[in-house]
Amino acid sequence: MRVRADRGVCVGAGLCVLRLPRIFDQNDEDGTVVLLRPDPDPDQEDAVLKVIAACPSGALRADR
Ligand code: SF4
Repeated sequence: MRVRADRGVCVGAGLCVLRLPRIFDQNDEDGTVVLLRPDPDPDQEDAVLKVIAACPSGALRADR
């Protein structure tokens, strides 16, 4: 699975970072998402998909 994040759409709510800090981080200056692991391990994929569904801005997506 490949995760993609559109920082132009992200509103910096931080939900993804809170839930999966090994996958996501936030930019120090504007709080927008920083992708630490665009290729999460298979056992993390379900958790990543839940975070993507919960992102309030729709900035995250995943391709298989
Ligand atoms: S949950 Fe969505 S809006 Fe919030 S920081 Fe992450 S990508 Fe941005």
